[in-house]
Amino acid sequence: MGRVYIVGAGPGDPELITVKGLRLLGSADVVLHDRLVSAELLRRVKPGALVIDVGKRPGGVGPSQEEINELLFSYAKRYDLVVRLHGGDPLVFGRGFEECEFLVSRGVPCEFVPGITSGLAAPAKYFIPPVVRGVASSVVLATGREDPRKGARQVDFRRLAGAVDTIIIYMGASAAGEIARELMEGGLPGDTPVAVVKSAYFIDEEFSMTTLANLYSVPNPSIIVVGKVVERGVRLWEAARRLSL
Ligand code: SAH
Repeated sequence: MGRVYIVGAGPGDPELITVKGLRLLGSADVVLHDRLVSAELLRRVKPGALVIDVGKRPGGVGPSQEEINELLFSYAKRYDLVVRLHGGDPLVFGRGFEECEFLVSRGVPCEFVPGITSGLAAPAKYFIPPVVRGVASSVVLATGREDPRKGARQVDFRRLAGAVDTIIIYMGASAAGEIARELMEGGLPGDTPVAVVKSAYFIDEEFSMTTLANLYSVPNPSIIVVGKVVERGVRLWEAARRLSL
């Protein structure tokens, strides 16, 4: 029986994986990866290693989670070292935990190697800190997606609005306008700054800044950051950019 490492690749920049993650990637017999993983990283596997795309396309086409679990199990039976490579961090909206639960229940040893989650890395590109002294002392990572079984939002944004300083939203593309409305109903002013980073660290990256009252549609995949830190961060980013012009 082999061993499975559930590894975070970080956001799109291939240099933003950990040293340990890169070492394991280079020695794996099999790599099963997400769609949001840089192609450059996948070239770092050893010659002859199997590289399998298990990513879902927008619209949900691709292997189901149950199929991914079964694939991991079947490769772990046949090979010594299997890497399951997730975009960002495997434990942040990545189903890495469920994969490990499944494997352990079948007697396969597995371990996590953390990665830099896009919710922190994407804002960092524009100097937006999740927390900063005097401006924000708490942050939440939330999903904007509905629970497919209940058809309702999994997160109560009205309550979050009054409870935390910075709100970082993953998978918010299709519901951005609705989430903005819920945050305002929860008490956040319409002029609260919002940043949207699409495909951070990939060639089709896009950045935009708006306010809650003007947040309607957002491209996919994006990280949405809501809070005063946006203004503070972008101001520093612009000042730093002027220095390097
Ligand atoms: N485990 C991943 C998140 C997977 S959920 C992580 O830790 O980053 C997929 C969502 O993550 C996307 O819908 C988007 O909201 C966000 N995301 C992942 N990579 C991104 C990137 N490079 N730029 C912007 N958003 C990204």
